[in-house]
This record gives sequence, C-alpha cells and structure tokens, in this order.
Amino acid sequence: MSLYVDIRKKYKNFQLDVAFETQPGETLALLGASGSGKSMTLKCIAGLVSPDEGVIRVNGRTLFDSSARIDLVPQARNVGYLFQNYALFPNMTVWQNIAIAWRPPAGAGRLKRRDALAMRAAAVDALLARYELSALAGQYPVQLSGGQQQRAALARIYAYEPEALLLDEPFSALDTFLRENMQAELKRNIRGYPGDVVLVTHSRDEAYKIAGRLVILDEGIPVAEGPTKEIFEDPKAAQAARITGCKNISPIRKTGPSTCFAEDWGIELDAGREVLEGHRYAGIRAHDFVPEEGPNSFEIEIDDVVEGPFEKNVILRAKGQGGPGCRLWWIVDRGASVENVTLLSVRPESILLLR
Ligand code: ADP
Ligand code: MG
Repeated sequence: MSLYVDIRKKYKNFQLDVAFETQPGETLALLGASGSGKSMTLKCIAGLVSPDEGVIRVNGRTLFDSSARIDLVPQARNVGYLFQNYALFPNMTVWQNIAIAWRPPAGAGRLKRRDALAMRAAAVDALLARYELSALAGQYPVQLSGGQQQRAALARIYAYEPEALLLDEPFSALDTFLRENMQAELKRNIRGYPGDVVLVTHSRDEAYKIAGRLVILDEGIPVAEGPTKEIFEDPKAAQAARITGCKNISPIRKTGPSTCFAEDWGIELDAGREVLEGHRYAGIRAHDFVPEEGPNSFEIEIDDVVEGPFEKNVILRAKGQGGPGCRLWWIVDRGASVENVTLLSVRPESILLLR
C-alpha cells in the first residue's frame, strides 16, 4: 500500500512543487509553517484542487496524471479527507453521519435494497462499537465533545474503506490538554488501519509523536524527507532545522577541515567532522549547551532570563558580541541556577551542519 505524489501547481504568489511517497504501514507527516502548502497538497490528493502537472497514485492506481489527462473526481479517488473541523453534518445523528458515507463492498455485486440496508446497518453498528460511539448513536454533532466528534468523523471516513487517510491539522482547534489526549487516541485509532495516513501539521511535537516519516515543506517545496527521528537528529537544511525547533542558526565560514566560524555569534566551532563546501549554516539546539568547561567553550553575557512553567529560556551572547543575530537561546530546567554561569560549551556532535 502506498501513496505516490509528484505535483506542481502555480498561483500568482505561491508555487507548490512537491514529491513524496509513503512507506507501507507508516504514518507520514507533512510539517511546515502556516502557508507552506500543506493543505493544498492534501486537496490535490483528494481531488479538490487540480495540479498544473504531475502524477498522483494510490496503490498503483492513478488518480491524477497530467500527461495522460487523468483527473479522477473526488468520489472516485477513494481517499478519506478529515477536515480541520471534522465537517460532520450538523442536522444528522452520529448514526446517520456514518451511514451516509457507507458504500457496499466492491465484491458485493448488485444488492436488493433490503439486503443493502441490512448490510449497512451492520457495518455502521460495527464502526460505532469500534470507536466507542454506540451509546452516542442518536446524538447530534453539537452534543459531542471534541474527542467524540473526531471519532465520529474517523468512523465516517472508515465507512467507505478509503485507501488513504488525509488528516488536515486535526487537533488545531483543541486546547493543550485535550490535544495531547486526542493525539494519543488518533495514534490508537489509526493503528489498525491498513491504508496510508498523511498527517498535515505545523507542530513539530505532533509530527514527532505520530509520524514515523516526515516531509518538511517550506514555501511549497520539500526541504527534508525521511524517517522522523533521523530528520530531527540531522535536519541537513537550515529551514528544516528551524522547523524542527532549532532556535540557534548562524551562517558559517569554514576555517579548517572540521572547524568553522559562526558569523552571527562570533565564535569558532569544531564540529568533530568534516565541514563541507555545501555547509553554509551551523545550528545548536537550545537544550544542547553545557554550562561547564569543555569542547567549543566560550564566555557569555546573559541578556535576559524568561521563566516558563517547566523551563527557563536564557537569552545570551558570546562575550563582547553585539551584532544583529548574535543572540543565542539556551533552555534549562526551571530549577537550574543560571545567573552565575559565565561560560558554555557545545559537544561537537551537538553542532548541526546545514546547507
Ligand atoms: P498551509 O496549509 O500550509 O497553511 P495552504 O496550502 O493553505 O498552506 O496555502 C499555501 C499558499 O497558497 C498560501 O500562501 C495561500 O495563500 C496560497 N493559496 C491557497 N489557495 C489559493 C488559491 N486558491 N489561489 C491563490 N493562492 C492560494
Ligand atoms: Mg492548512
């Protein structure tokens, strides 16, 4: 089972040019800032927007191919699109919302109306049971909690057995506590699903928690693709590092085989491995500074300490530096005392070398 996408779409002020392929049994996240083209990509797959050119296939079946003039209507694509607000029909009960999406299985042949209705009722009841919605079958969407609405929307999508499931920022409307519960629940809900899942999100935490594979979009273009953990460990591109949450990124000038000078920060770094021609930036995650003498140590001046509920953000500069972009972010546990720290070091392996 896999989804293959290679499409281009041009608007006056925006250009989408994405290519990716899902891996069997792995949830793929499209991660990017707002306006990076995530929703547009999903809409192209679902058939709500036509790309200018390219190819979209699911399990070898062509949904779109500009050169062969194939552009299936959404109903013929057999992909499930979970909208941001779930788009349940407000005037229908949970039972009716799911029943309306049900289609007879492909191998069922021509069914008598009575048999089709019986088959549908059994299928809807089974879906309700599976999503713990049986007790809510007669309720209307407004009577449901956010979590129940999501389950109903997923059950409705599963009712027509789509070959791919497209989730567009499914948690963006929820508060933090509910969001974390729903993320865990979604992970459980999609575990038994045999098709491909594409999750669109602007949250690196959400992508990390739910998706084994990642495509990072920046202004309509993929800047990183691969296993999620590997991309977080080594984002390779500066935009990808930023989107995975790296707060410190500086242009660099190579000064030796494994060393470079970070121009914004005014410090020399030894990366412990070869700095290549294509490496134009260095990144240091805010958690990766060590407040003691060690490799890459430099004297600091602290400008500001912002206390959060669990962590402190320390905003600092290398001593004597004052140019634009010289600020570095260091994040420590709330309990750590930082006021007397005058020196930080960075392990070579903590230095991201980026293009
Ligand atoms: P995301 O979901 O990543 O936040 P979108 O895919 O919704 O971003 O939009 C990407 C960009 O495409 C945005 O800059 C948006 O303004 C632009 N865009 C979306 N739809 C249209 C359209 N129909 N016409 C012109 N520009 C559009
Ligand atoms: Mg969007």
